[in-house]
Amino acid sequence: MIPFNKPCVIGSEIHAIQQVITADKLSGNGEFGKKCMKWLEEQLTCEKALLTPSCTAALELTALLTDIQPGDEVVMPSYTFVSTANAFVLRGASIRFVDIEPSTMNIDPQAIERAITEHTKAIVVVHYAGVGCDMDTVLTIANNHNLWVIEDAAQGLMSTYKGESLGTIGHLSTISFHDTKNYTCGEGGALLINDASLIERAEMIQEKGTNRSQFIRGEIDKYTWRDVGSSYLLSELNAAYLSVQFQHANEINQNRRHSWAQYNHGLMNLQLDGAIELPTIPNVCEHNAHMYYIKLENEMERNQLRQFLKQNHITAATHYVPLHTAHAGKQFGLFVGEDRYTTTESDRLLRLPLYYGIGEEAINDVVNKIQQYFQS
Ligand SMILES: *Cc1c(COP(=O)(O)O)cnc(C)c1O
Repeated sequence: MIPFNKPCVIGSEIHAIQQVITADKLSGNGEFGKKCMKWLEEQLTCEKALLTPSCTAALELTALLTDIQPGDEVVMPSYTFVSTANAFVLRGASIRFVDIEPSTMNIDPQAIERAITEHTKAIVVVHYAGVGCDMDTVLTIANNHNLWVIEDAAQGLMSTYKGESLGTIGHLSTISFHDTKNYTCGEGGALLINDASLIERAEMIQEKGTNRSQFIRGEIDKYTWRDVGSSYLLSELNAAYLSVQFQHANEINQNRRHSWAQYNHGLMNLQLDGAIELPTIPNVCEHNAHMYYIKLENEMERNQLRQFLKQNHITAATHYVPLHTAHAGKQFGLFVGEDRYTTTESDRLLRLPLYYGIGEEAINDVVNKIQQYFQS
């Protein structure tokens, strides 16, 4: 049996968690939390990183920090996870869904321009599979219209666009440490703040709307209610687990990249034969091998191959149902422009098993079964 995913574990996480327990501090922003935030700030070169309970929570923080109000509009791809939209819907915004580019499954910048109105406040881009969006074009459009740029970099840690880390290009960005992501702690996330003017407010919103963070640093002698807020901290137990993953980030990245390359090499002949399409990585992007997907001729063939792999004890997965076709998507959003690629490309996409330590043998197995499917 080859599962689709296995949560990443190095082995020494248990010792870090033990240290937290003996140190008598389990709540957020402790020693391990600070270590993780510092690692993110230095590794990615960003102004400020805050650990959050999830990427979903970090996205909610971005909606609060950009002061999204009822009636505001936010532009994003329809091909994304529900949290990308929900964070803004919770603030009363309506979503303007736009099409993707088929080569990367990332937002089509040309489609953004057409979706902007006088009510538009923000553009949210999603770096699908850890492959960077066309950020130069997105930033130009955002500057022209005075819009916030938020990167949903849930899948993008350790990837770059023109040498800059994903998550450090827009005003704000979010990362996920869910157990399906490259670096995990079960449930967890981070908010990256690249616009320094937002740091103080972010710390307050994260701490239930109080200036408790300043109090803990000894900058003030009591803390009070200053702003709207919620509890957006990551437990120190989770941070301990995460800190070990960060220590081994290069090793995890190289292992995944190796597996990704093995798939790409092993399936290349099927692309040359025109049977399937392999992922495209733009020249300006370095990716983190978050995902290996192939595209079949159509939905029927995708489902047939998936079934064939399942019969052979291999779990392959489909991905997002375009949000504009979902019940809530119709209620809270609108697809602007033509759905040229979102539906057709998502219908024929299949994700193959890929996780830290999957091993060459398992990938060989998957590749051979796919070859076998096309021979018969
Ligand atoms: C995983 C993911 C999320 C949600 O992350 P959580 O940490 O589970 O909240 C949001 N957006 C994208 C693009 C994702 O891949």
